Amino acid sequence: MTAISPHASVSAPASEARTSGRVFNFGAGPSTLPDDVLKQIQQDVWNYRGSGIGILELSHRGKEYDKLIAEIDDDLRAIGNIPRNYKILFMTGGATSQNYIVPANLLPPGGTADHIVTGYWAENTLADARQYASCSNTKATIHVAATSADKNHSYIPADADIKYSASQGRGGPTYVHITSNNTIYGTQWHRLPKIPEGAFLVSDACSDFFWKPIDVTKFGVIYGGAQKNMGTTGCSFIVIRDDILERANKDIPRMLQYGVFSREESRPNTPPTFAIYTVGLMAKWIKAQGGLAALEKLNREKAGLVYAALDANTGFYTPHVRKEDRSFMNITFACKGVGAKEGGGGMEMDARFLADAGKAGLAVLKGHRAMGHGGGMRASLYNAMPLAGAQALAEFIGDFAKKNG
Ligand code: PMP
Repeated sequence: MTAISPHASVSAPASEARTSGRVFNFGAGPSTLPDDVLKQIQQDVWNYRGSGIGILELSHRGKEYDKLIAEIDDDLRAIGNIPRNYKILFMTGGATSQNYIVPANLLPPGGTADHIVTGYWAENTLADARQYASCSNTKATIHVAATSADKNHSYIPADADIKYSASQGRGGPTYVHITSNNTIYGTQWHRLPKIPEGAFLVSDACSDFFWKPIDVTKFGVIYGGAQKNMGTTGCSFIVIRDDILERANKDIPRMLQYGVFSREESRPNTPPTFAIYTVGLMAKWIKAQGGLAALEKLNREKAGLVYAALDANTGFYTPHVRKEDRSFMNITFACKGVGAKEGGGGMEMDARFLADAGKAGLAVLKGHRAMGHGGGMRASLYNAMPLAGAQALAEFIGDFAKKNG
């Protein structure tokens, strides 16, 4: 592969707006990929590393693929400071399939999992885990330790509000499940919950893994779909500590077993080779940016610009989330009820915002329907969103409020 060069456009100013015919894509996932990564893909689809075979056609048992997955493992460990006593696995079925794969592997017979429910995906995870517990012979219990549903998931619960199962007269949980970034509502954990002794933390980090350096050793399992910060659709990543992997259940179907994926280098069957390859390109790109510390700085700057524009226009916009729990990845807001019925949330103005933004090359900003009031707006600022995109959006937010306020 030709080296991925430091990427001028991620930190270029808004005045150097895109000239390539592409727009700034604020979609929550699949989401924008860096220009350099897309160009490399274009080359590799035709001829992967001089093999004469394109990446879409490459055998998952050949020596090029052996080399590729070894390189991806090394690169992800180096970038994410992932210790050797953790395995990195790739599976299919997205983050959603981990909703049952996690309990199927990790809940011992009669065990308990505690969930902290902070949004739409966390609710799905809870429902699927409960479904798993109810239809299996594990006699497992899924306990809700805390939820932010009372305020439409606009905050992250404090430690004092988390009631683990142990305190409810049951045995302690095997693990505590959190969703580190709530993609739809736009909250993010900026500290980790204090969990009961003996339990490990499982984190759905689908929408914020690799946004900044983290201490992986604080977690037992971290998982997500790759299609936001780390690549494109088709593969999920699982980072799992060895001792947890070793005691994972072995009486479940083979294609659900973490142990099988670990032993067979994430290819017990034909894996999603293209999606995994794209994770590899993202890893190289992250390295070329200066690693996660450099990306964190940039990600903070991008989100800071957009939040500042919203905060400068509080008479016009309502951000959804309590300030201290704001996500650096997904920024959610709506126009106030201008021209709408009281409590109507400014839906007509939201629609105008989205239409005008689209004309300005700022695309896929519509919020999720689960937010209510038509969804409002959501700007996703993952790793590959250039600074120029955040600058352009921040300027647009200010200009739109002036024009329509
Ligand atoms: N969890 C979170 C936090 C997500 O953002 C998403 C997708 N947006 C999912 C889970 C579901 O991921 P997938 O579509 O890969 O199943």
